[in-house]
Amino acid sequence: MNQDLLLELVEKHEAPLYVYDADVIEGKYNAFKNAFDVENLEIHYACKALTNLSVLSLMKSLGSKLDCVSVQELQLGIKAGFAPEDIMFTPNGVGEEEYDQAISLGVKINVDNVQMLEYLGSTYPDLELCVRINPHLMGGGNSKISVGHIDSKFGVSIHQLPLVHRIANKYNIKINGIHVHTGSDIHDGDIFIRAAHLILTAGESFKDLEYIDFGSGFKVAYKPNDFHTDINKFGQKFSEVFNAFCKKMGKNFTLKFEPGKYLVSESGSLLTKVNVVKQTTSCTFAHVDSGFNHLIRPMFYDSYHHIDNLSNPEGDEKLYNVVGYICESDTFATDRIITEVRKGDILRFRNAGAYCFTMASNYNSRYRPAEVLVKGGEGYLIRERETIEDLVKGQKLIKF
Ligand SMILES: *Cc1c(COP(=O)(O)O)cnc(C)c1O
Repeated sequence: MNQDLLLELVEKHEAPLYVYDADVIEGKYNAFKNAFDVENLEIHYACKALTNLSVLSLMKSLGSKLDCVSVQELQLGIKAGFAPEDIMFTPNGVGEEEYDQAISLGVKINVDNVQMLEYLGSTYPDLELCVRINPHLMGGGNSKISVGHIDSKFGVSIHQLPLVHRIANKYNIKINGIHVHTGSDIHDGDIFIRAAHLILTAGESFKDLEYIDFGSGFKVAYKPNDFHTDINKFGQKFSEVFNAFCKKMGKNFTLKFEPGKYLVSESGSLLTKVNVVKQTTSCTFAHVDSGFNHLIRPMFYDSYHHIDNLSNPEGDEKLYNVVGYICESDTFATDRIITEVRKGDILRFRNAGAYCFTMASNYNSRYRPAEVLVKGGEGYLIRERETIEDLVKGQKLIKF
């Protein structure tokens, strides 16, 4: 995105500020869609990556459907204009009441364990269900986001499929979808294909099958020349496997994916202002007006976020430790080369579209940042910065 526009936006709305580029989101959506050559493709945006209502509305306008992991996300999706039947509910480890609420909203239901399958089958005789299968394949960029391996808490083990069929027969449950999601940020593109073979083979035993949902985990580039999923190559390979399955079964199944990060990561920037530049004997700290309360990925996942000095792009390159203003260690980057940083400069953290604002908190009683969506060169404020009212909302002050 145009750097001058970013500086204008931060001037107008102040730092720290999240800015998302709608053109980037649209480009990624279309690239994803066009990578596959199958009869029926449905993309369900995994909204936990970024749930702002305007972003959801943008996704809907592009033709996307939605994947939600909580009742609250379902409510946001419906508020943003999605039809309930276009929303998939894929929670993990939630109680019966939350499934009951989701069912009353009319969304598609993905079941994560056999106990819940039994409950839903016995309680809702005519409900169509999707079953989340754990193929026991190791995927995911690190152990925190790798959810398909043998010890993972997600999904019904592929070894328990006989039990799934027994429960389905007992209650006459129509299982019309199966689902797999092997984790986020996968480095090994072939893992998808391996999981696909396992899941498709499992799919042969589901007589009511209409769709197969392969989740997500597509890797995006976080730094220049970083490895990322080649979506065209993957789409082509995957389409062949999927089309062969349809042909073998004599039925045109719907292929679903649930990308989150792939669609929104690169669209976002977190713009921060430098409060202090502190020289010590061993290094130089650039303290920005943010911390893990706004962007926790570097501290939580050791994630790399590229940092540019927007307001001094031509300065001499130097080494910095970029840190926040939280009273705790909150290091964004160590020994990072950035053009000379001065007090008041605006530092831009890239790849701040996915799992950044949605993981933000009020730690240190700081406000969560405002959010701006840029479309057609125009910046739209899509969330106001919080105020002290937001921090005290719902609290009851007992005066002792
Ligand atoms: C988080 C999640 C996704 C999205 O993963 P990304 O790596 O962001 O694309 C998709 N499906 C399910 C079930 C998820 O929990």
